[in-house]
Amino acid sequence: NEYLLEIKELKKHFPIKEGFMKEKKVVKAVDSISFNIKQGETFGLVGESGCGKSTTGRLINGLIDADSGEIIFNNHQIDSLSTKQWRKVRKEMQMVFQDPYASLSPRMTVKEILMEPLNIHFKNLNEKEKEERVELLLKKCGINPYHLNKYAHEFSGGQRQRIGIARALILQPQLIIADEPVSALDVSIQSQILNLMKDLQEEFNLTYLFVSHDLSVIEFISDRIGVMYLGDIVEISSKEKIFNDPKHPYTKALLSAIPQIGETSGEEEEVSLQGDIPSASNPPSGCKFHTRCPFAMEQCKTIIPRQRILNDEQTVACHLYEEGMINNAT
Ligand code: SF4
Ligand code: MG
Repeated sequence: NEYLLEIKELKKHFPIKEGFMKEKKVVKAVDSISFNIKQGETFGLVGESGCGKSTTGRLINGLIDADSGEIIFNNHQIDSLSTKQWRKVRKEMQMVFQDPYASLSPRMTVKEILMEPLNIHFKNLNEKEKEERVELLLKKCGINPYHLNKYAHEFSGGQRQRIGIARALILQPQLIIADEPVSALDVSIQSQILNLMKDLQEEFNLTYLFVSHDLSVIEFISDRIGVMYLGDIVEISSKEKIFNDPKHPYTKALLSAIPQIGETSGEEEEVSLQGDIPSASNPPSGCKFHTRCPFAMEQCKTIIPRQRILNDEQTVACHLYEEGMINNAT
C-alpha cells in the first residue's frame, strides 16, 4: 500500500444555535470527504476560511471525533481508537499549529517543552541521550542549543515556529499535520520556515498534510493538492495540474483571484466568483457551488456531483465532467 493515510467519507457536522431566535442549525464542516496521502509526499489542503480544512486536520489527529467515515493510517483504522491506543498513534502523527506561541507552554523552557514528549514515549532513553536528541533536533531546526533554558516568549515568531516544529518532530513521527503554520509570520520568514520544512521532510522521510488558505504557500510546498469548498473536496490534482490545468470551476475561480505576476498567455479562461460564500450552516443544495458558479446547470441545483477520476493526476466533483458532458481527455 503506497498510502500512509487514507480518508474515506469522513464527516463532521456541528450543531449550532443561530440568530436572534436561536434557531437550531447544523454546520456541515466536513461533509463526507475522501482522499489519500502517499508516503513521503506533501498533500496541500486549500480553500477559503471556514471551508473545513482545519476541521479535517483535527479529525485526522483525533482532536475531535468524526460523525462517520474512516481514517486509515499505516494500514490501521484509527477513527475509533481508545485513548490508550491513541498514544501509540500519537507518536507517529504530530501537529504544527498556526500560532506557535499559543501552543507552547509559557511556563516551560525550550528544553522542557522538547523533553516532555520524550519522557512519555521514550522511557528507554537515559537523560543524557534525551538531551542529546533535543539539542541535535534544535540545531536541525535552526535554533542554537545555547538557548535551551529560555522561554517561548523570549523568541521571535519565526523562532517560535522552529521550536514548534522541533517539538512536533522530537518523537520521530511519520506524518505531520500542519495547520496554517506560516500564516502568522512575515512573508520573509514564511519562506525560511517552508524551506526548513522541506529540508526536514527530506532528511526524516516525513509525510505532510499541509493546510493553508494561501495558494502561493500551497504551491510552494505541495506535491498534490485538495481544494475544499463548504465542507467538500471539489478537486484533487497534482500541483502541476491544479496550477496549469485546473478542472473545477471553483479551483479556476480561486486561481483567477490571485494577481498574476508577469505576462499571461491570455488563453486561460477567467472564472470570477459571483456573490458571497454561503453560510456553512445552510449550504446550497445539489452542488454547493451552484450559487456562485458561472457554468451552473439545472441539475447542479439538485444533484450532488460525485468525485470523478479524470486521469491518474486529476479527480473532480463537477457535473461538467460527467460522461457525455464535455470531452476532457487530457
Ligand atoms: Fe458548477 Fe455545476 Fe460543476 Fe457545481 S456541478 S461546479 S454548479 S458546473
Ligand atoms: Mg482554519
